Order: sequence, then C-alpha cells, then structure tokens
Amino acid sequence: MEFKKCARCGCFFISESDVCCNCESRDKMDISKLNSILDENYNFNSIQDLSILSGVNINNLSRFIKSNKISGLNINL
Ligand SMILES: [Zn+2]
Repeated sequence: MEFKKCARCGCFFISESDVCCNCESRDKMDISKLNSILDENYNFNSIQDLSILSGVNINNLSRFIKSNKISGLNINL
C-alpha cells in the first residue's frame, strides 16, 4: 500500500479514493449540494459561477468534474 496525499486537506492517508476519510464526508456534502443546484439551474457560464453559487471552491469543483462525480454539468474546463 502506498501513501496518497489528500486532494482536499493535503494530509497523507491510505485509501482507494482521492481524499482522506475526514474529507470524504465533506466531498459528499459538496457533491450533493452541487447536484441539487444543478437540478434546478442548468445555465452556468463558468465553473466560477457555480463555485460562487455553491460555496464549493474551484479546486474541489474541478476535481469533482474531472472524476465525473457531478451529473448534468455542461461546462468546458
Ligand atoms: Zn483530507
């Protein structure tokens, strides 16, 4: 097993996911928040807009998009 660096808090951990177990629940909260926003409004011009509206920072947002954790999003990064 190799240590990985958490994409959210930067701590080292051992897991199959991108983030440590502390951040996994924060990721889930962010993703459900984003999905509920996207359910209601599909007209975002940029991920900046979505970031401001959701309060999820852009680093995390683009990480979710790249790993296909957000559905219904049509923004080119
Ligand atoms: Zn973490």
